[in-house]
Amino acid sequence: MNKINISVSIFSIALFAVVFAMQSMASENPHWEYYGDNGPDAWGRLDQSYIMCAEGKNQSPINLTNMIEGSLPDLKLKYSKSGTEVVNNGHTIQVNFAPGNTMTVEGRTFELKQVHFHSPSENNIEGKSYPLEGHFVHADKAGNLAVIAILYDHGEHNNELEKAWEYMSASSGDKHMLPNKINASKLFPEKHAYYRFNGSLTTPPCSEGVRWFVMKDINNASQRQVRKFISVIPHDNNRPLQAINAREVIQ
Ligand SMILES: [Zn+2]
Repeated sequence: MNKINISVSIFSIALFAVVFAMQSMASENPHWEYYGDNGPDAWGRLDQSYIMCAEGKNQSPINLTNMIEGSLPDLKLKYSKSGTEVVNNGHTIQVNFAPGNTMTVEGRTFELKQVHFHSPSENNIEGKSYPLEGHFVHADKAGNLAVIAILYDHGEHNNELEKAWEYMSASSGDKHMLPNKINASKLFPEKHAYYRFNGSLTTPPCSEGVRWFVMKDINNASQRQVRKFISVIPHDNNRPLQAINAREVIQ
């Protein structure tokens, strides 16, 4: 073994140690699920950092009802073709976006980070659940979160969705680059009228202070597309409805 080989070996061992340490750290993040002992009822007890899942008073999802009339500003969307990869993270199918897609509203600009899906829908509208819901997760520079939710009913085949659906994997951890990049605006219904309320992340740590914008108009996905999602994420991945408490839904 010459000097270079020895240093390469030492480097490999060091790299292995770092990767191993990172994996151990990751597994300290308590595992949560949508069912069984680590299901939604237990989330708040799985870790101190998940306490809001149990104690929060502004949790998501909700049944949107008793809407209050208000004058809501238009969402200013600047999206381009930049959904670049699709990931199965074990809980959902997620499309990651390159930087530069923004949504401006209420005097703040948020950047689109990722879009992921739930089946059946998490939010209900007037007691009605839908087969699929997309969450368009945005963050501003200070880390404030804004989620645009779009509900999909059984209907026409959704071509933009198919760009990700074609490459979604049934194996947790799998990631695929998308040869045809997704334009998030093409996943929206035609009109952008929305319901507005404050809520939380719908998965641990269930952090609050999330601005929610639920599109009033329902978009479509084919039954085959919904079935494919269910075959890849073979358990319902919707958190149960949470109490509205003192909140109001503005429209
Ligand atoms: Zn979500």
